[in-house]
Amino acid sequence: KETVSRNFIENIIDKDIEEGRCKKVVTRFPPEPNGYLHIGHAKSIILNSGLAKEYGGQFNLRFDDTNPTKEKSEFVDSILEDVKWICGDLDMEHVFYASDYFDMMYECAVKLIKKGKAYVCDLSADEIREYRGTLKEPGKNSPYRDRTVEENLDLFERMKNGEFEDGSKVLRAKIDMSSPNINMRDPVIYRVARMSHHRTGDKWCIYPMYDFAHPIEDTVEGVTHSICTLEFEDHRPLYDWVVNEIDMENKPRQIEFAKLYLTNVVTGKRYIKKLVEDGIVDGWDDPRLVSIAALKRRGFTPESIRMFIELSGISKAQSSSDYAMLEYCIREDLKMKRPRMMAVLDPVKLVITNYPENEIEYLDVSNNQENPEMGSRKVPFGRVLYIDREDFKIEPPRKYFRLYPGNEVRLMNAYFVTCTDYVTDEDGNVTEVHCTYDPETKSGSGFNARKVKGTIHWVCAETAEKCEIRLYENIVDEEKGVYNEDGSINVNPNSLTVLDDCYVEPALAEAEALDSFQFVRHGYFCVDSKDSTKEHMVFNRIVSLKSSYKQ
Ligand code: ATP
Ligand code: MG
Ligand code: MG
Repeated sequence: KETVSRNFIENIIDKDIEEGRCKKVVTRFPPEPNGYLHIGHAKSIILNSGLAKEYGGQFNLRFDDTNPTKEKSEFVDSILEDVKWICGDLDMEHVFYASDYFDMMYECAVKLIKKGKAYVCDLSADEIREYRGTLKEPGKNSPYRDRTVEENLDLFERMKNGEFEDGSKVLRAKIDMSSPNINMRDPVIYRVARMSHHRTGDKWCIYPMYDFAHPIEDTVEGVTHSICTLEFEDHRPLYDWVVNEIDMENKPRQIEFAKLYLTNVVTGKRYIKKLVEDGIVDGWDDPRLVSIAALKRRGFTPESIRMFIELSGISKAQSSSDYAMLEYCIREDLKMKRPRMMAVLDPVKLVITNYPENEIEYLDVSNNQENPEMGSRKVPFGRVLYIDREDFKIEPPRKYFRLYPGNEVRLMNAYFVTCTDYVTDEDGNVTEVHCTYDPETKSGSGFNARKVKGTIHWVCAETAEKCEIRLYENIVDEEKGVYNEDGSINVNPNSLTVLDDCYVEPALAEAEALDSFQFVRHGYFCVDSKDSTKEHMVFNRIVSLKSSYKQ
């Protein structure tokens, strides 16, 4: 094994293997199909699948679909797609559904009843809560606790057969009403609920509770290490109780770790749903959100998300990671892999008055100066170009080295140009900048007779592809924090800027959905997968080039 420091979960697994408790490591990711996955789930997916890979074991994706109220097939499909994307691939032989075990769970419950370890209880939900007691006070036994095994078997079967109203009877584990751990005070393990299940339809009118179902799911799948988040720590004694009482060969072990939180980022389902319903964002995959679908649409890569999860570490201590770290990871991932191209976001015409009319020349431009293996491309150049408005000033501020009357700059990958004149409209807005070029100064010609301080990018007006570019900021107003006093989200009014008169190199007309590029000086961008068409291309800014993240 590697000598790098191992996380606490690896230490536990190492010991289980060393001491012979485990031969083949089996992990699982168990989402409830009641919503879209987000960056927090990515942590669980990467952790569990990573451990299986590291130990030459197996990773299961299991839909924890035991509570039909909010579960839908739509979510199953999106989860399958997201897990496949994060992991690179997904072995469909290791995709399971908890609902496939309903018969077996029923058998386990019958087994408990026969052992005198479970009973049917007629108390209402409120009464059960009342009898349960508090942290300071032990609970009281239910008056139904001493029903005979025969009576319990009969009642439980009739619960299953639909003889009782929803909520009128439950099956409870018979453990200890005075346990200091409230989860052990005869927890409910089955309830009557007439709900249609997205896979089993109306076959069942009783459904198992999470704390009973989950250890059974893990046990039957041969899961060895059942990794979950910290809020389940004090459910572990119940998990172990179920594992022991059902008495099957496999004895999975639950391990808890701290959830991933992002500073100033909304991950809660409830809040995202509200943003979607209020029309503030364009669905669950709006590029400003951190659902996996949104991160993908924004242009993040699985590699960048994996790097982020690794940097954020695995521990039992609650902490919050910075979105700037995620941005750092995508810059690192794309830096050497993506072509660097020119795009003008806020165009103004640059006319080279001494360049021949109706002539286009094709300049050889390196695709990525830091990675020569990426080769080069031909970029058209002509008499009329677009440059970004901020690269020209009538009256330059101090230390401004870009274009202004009389100044000479380099047009990136092309020639030196000197500004000779400009044209404004009646409001004083610059509509054209005029300049002359010096043919001697062509990029790559070795010209070094004089130097210029500024280099600006451009695109050739005649051949450019017009497009829309979307810039994003945090959906949350960071100055004020995520939530207002009334619990609503502090929405940043500038979270989306749409620029609809942008120009990019013609080569970009061939780009497909989700293809990504560096636009020099502007950042990394990708083709929007929802709104971009051949006729009207739309690019999302993934991240700017400047980093606020300190490693
Ligand atoms: P949410 O309410 O945010 O959707 P959840 O816990 O209800 O989260 P599940 O579908 O039950 O979502 O979760 C599937 C798995 O993902 C669980 O093992 C859970 O512990 C894990 N998980 C959920 N959120 C995070 C997070 N922020 N960081 C790490 N793991 C997480
Ligand atoms: Mg969930
Ligand atoms: Mg949950």
